[in-house]
Amino acid sequence: MSGLSDDQRQIQEWAREFARREIAPRALVLDQDPESPEREALLRAAARAGILGSNLPEALGGAGHDPVTSSLITEELAAECAGCAVLFGANMLGLLPILLSGNFGAIERFVRPVTQSWETDRPKLAALAATEPDAGSDFIMGHPGGRMRTRVEKKDGGYVINGRKIFISNGSLASVVTVFATHDPAASIRESMSCFVVPSDAEGFSVGQVFDKMGQRAAPAAELVFDDVFVPEENRLGNEGGGFALNRLIMSVTRTPIGAIALGIARSAYEKALAYAESRRQGGGPIVRHQAMEIMLADMAIRVEAARGLVHGAAASLAAGRPSLKLSSMAKTFASDSAVANALDAIQILGGYGYMREYGVEKLLRDAKLTQIYEGTNQINRFEIMEQVAAERGA
Ligand SMILES: Cc1cc2nc3c(=O)[nH]c(=O)nc-3n(C[C@H](O)[C@H](O)[C@H](O)COP(=O)(O)OP(=O)(O)OC[C@H]3O[C@@H](n4cnc5c(N)ncnc54)[C@H](O)[C@@H]3O)c2cc1C
Repeated sequence: MSGLSDDQRQIQEWAREFARREIAPRALVLDQDPESPEREALLRAAARAGILGSNLPEALGGAGHDPVTSSLITEELAAECAGCAVLFGANMLGLLPILLSGNFGAIERFVRPVTQSWETDRPKLAALAATEPDAGSDFIMGHPGGRMRTRVEKKDGGYVINGRKIFISNGSLASVVTVFATHDPAASIRESMSCFVVPSDAEGFSVGQVFDKMGQRAAPAAELVFDDVFVPEENRLGNEGGGFALNRLIMSVTRTPIGAIALGIARSAYEKALAYAESRRQGGGPIVRHQAMEIMLADMAIRVEAARGLVHGAAASLAAGRPSLKLSSMAKTFASDSAVANALDAIQILGGYGYMREYGVEKLLRDAKLTQIYEGTNQINRFEIMEQVAAERGA
């Protein structure tokens, strides 16, 4: 691939080695049994390798990689197992509101203990809790008719949070949760919401259902319950009522790594399909020679390259200090649609073998589907792209 520095190529190679050594042997194990002890072993290996904080500043205990280099790493991890890439990546999603809020006290009290734990045998994780049973897309869009039920009330010296969040990646593993709550459930989501950091040992915090997922099973998705959870005032991230704007900024960063995860799936599907098509002989020769197969494989290769261009474009914009909701949403939407299309084509090219679990291709489809849903469904991402286009045109 062109345009990468020598350093970036070396890091890409290192990430590929890590993924082959640590992730590949565990991918099917964690797909079948997400609670296997292998998950802890994998987290320990990732923590020691600096993968849990690849784009976190070095001064805070991260690896300090720029967004393009982080995308390269994420692509490699996801090419072996997207669920494992999410197991690592959801941690940065959880820490990001603290970092972006510029609340230095919260950074010291919550981010540093997490990164310091990565040198121990019990690496800690963070999670971000936005979605709730009655507010999924409405939360993301700030739809005028949408209502949040997780409520925050001001009390002496702080706030009390009550409510329930669902589908929270790594929610059952996290020691730190960043949570969005409304000051007024009857008011517009765009104006009424603030973000808070809650340690998982806070009184009244508990983990509810851990959902049985179709794909990306290595990363648990959990319900989180807040029952009169008190947090001091300094745990608020950003201004009161500034939660919606903070979440927009978060998504302009985090949709790019989701694009990189989808890219890893799309590439893996293409590589597996190509290798199979070269070795499988039917109709008098390797099936790769049949024009129908060639056309499918060419389309798969095009999707991989185009998705990579969008992911790196969005990452480069972020690296240049211009986080773009439009570019990150484009990267996420195109890469996730490509991942699903490539996974479907890979199954078709492998024929009956593609349908069997042991070949790992049906897992790609199950994993790929989720990338079209979380961080805003692709329908919602497309609305947001057009919202940004309209804003640029002054409409
Ligand atoms: C495995 C998993 C992990 C997740 N991890 C996290 C996490 O870590 N943290 C977190 O906060 N959330 C997380 N989510 C939540 C995720 O972001 C939401 O599921 C997603 O935003 C969609 O919300 P919803 O599920 O409520 O669907 P809904 O909003 O109910 O949407 C249902 C359908 O209606 C469509 N739709 C909705 N509104 C409109 C509209 N205005 N116009 C047209 N169509 C519309 C949607 O596109 C979708 O097809 C996760 C979800 C899953 C499944």
